[in-house]
Amino acid sequence: TPELIEAGRRGYELDRQHVFHSWSAQEKITPMTVIDAQGSWLWDGEGQRLLDLTCQLIYTNVGHRHPKVVEAIKEQADRLCTIAPQHANDARSEAARLITELLPQDINHVFFTNGGADANEHAVRMARLHTGRHKVLSAYRSYHGGRHMAINLTGDPRRIASDRAADGVVHFLPPYTYRSYFGSADEKQEAERALGHLRDTLLLEGASSVAAIILEAIPGTAGIYMPPPGYVEGVRQLCDEHGIVLIMDEVMAGFGRSGRWFAHEHFDVEPDIVTFAKGVNSGYVPLGGVAMDDEIYATFAQDPYPGGLTYSGHPLACAAAVATIRTMHEEGMVEYARRLGDQVIGPRLEELKDRHPSVGDVRGAGAFWAIELVKDKDTREPLAPYGQTAPVMGEIVAECRRQGVLPFMNMNRLHICPPLNILEEDIVFGIEVIDRALRIADESIAG
Ligand code: PLP
Repeated sequence: TPELIEAGRRGYELDRQHVFHSWSAQEKITPMTVIDAQGSWLWDGEGQRLLDLTCQLIYTNVGHRHPKVVEAIKEQADRLCTIAPQHANDARSEAARLITELLPQDINHVFFTNGGADANEHAVRMARLHTGRHKVLSAYRSYHGGRHMAINLTGDPRRIASDRAADGVVHFLPPYTYRSYFGSADEKQEAERALGHLRDTLLLEGASSVAAIILEAIPGTAGIYMPPPGYVEGVRQLCDEHGIVLIMDEVMAGFGRSGRWFAHEHFDVEPDIVTFAKGVNSGYVPLGGVAMDDEIYATFAQDPYPGGLTYSGHPLACAAAVATIRTMHEEGMVEYARRLGDQVIGPRLEELKDRHPSVGDVRGAGAFWAIELVKDKDTREPLAPYGQTAPVMGEIVAECRRQGVLPFMNMNRLHICPPLNILEEDIVFGIEVIDRALRIADESIAG
């Protein structure tokens, strides 16, 4: 409506005057105004309808404005907007029960946080206190959050600006079959060699000084690259050998994103700690958390945990989590997303790869996919250098937007991360638009 468009204009002006944005040179950005959103679609400042293949920052897993979740938030607000973390509250308790019910049997307690970064920082602190050790290992090509500690756990270039705060963090090379650091010929070799490298890292760092290994079972922002079979299981085994806590960061991949409730379910492993945020309540109200097994819990059963947050387990966020998880069960969203990945998204992206000289690799599962663009399929030289973007990437996204689709862009990759309940016809439309826009990439590398 004209009123919404007018409100959006005013919002944009005030944004430029007063809002400080994440990760940005403040005066070099032109934020896209959003005036409305429903299901898999949103409306920009001009009132143009766009298919949201970003789920914002990969979190609106049940789509925008799902009526059951909206209703639950309204009901909770009418009843009790907020209550301090030291009290017991039914929304918080039920959210914790529903979350632990989805996790391995010995994970029975949840410490709620405000988001993913603070979940990871608390998980590391718990692991350190539990083991009495200090070092933490995390993978290059990973993302664990933007706070002081979490940005250092992160294995992408955003950590470099605050490297000097990397207290006890050691990075190792992950398996990445498409761009193997180990010169592997196949997935089996990649798993073996990457595990050998991790074993060496533990030896060289002193395994008995390592409190935790933190891992995204399927790395998200770093490129949605599936670890080769056996790798995650091998990491679990190394942790067991050395008494190291295995923290699975399920912030992006959890809550149905990969077509399983959690990405670690693709493998035969049980983590000691699972961190989550985003999809737990589709991001309608900020919420994250640390779900811990009984052993870690026992460390803090008689001695206090030296940490806390004013908004830990905020009732509005927890009521949204309860409604989101129930709705995902009721509407069979995880199974639906798995089928969509196996039967619709995966096969269609494979076709794109065959058709476009610029498409080097496509990979993913469920509603969690990446298209990796290259200058040359043989050399696999990325279309934008590591840690950077390239004008052609911006042009591809701009063309998608002109045609009514919003994909997620990172370096030389497009990520296709729709709501888990996106209509099949909508995702087919989205992929067709991307298919047409990739012509720009093909032309940029031709001759
Ligand atoms: N961990 C992973 C795997 C993520 O993808 C993210 C955010 O993208 C985070 C942690 C950080 O979460 P937050 O931005 O809620 O702090």
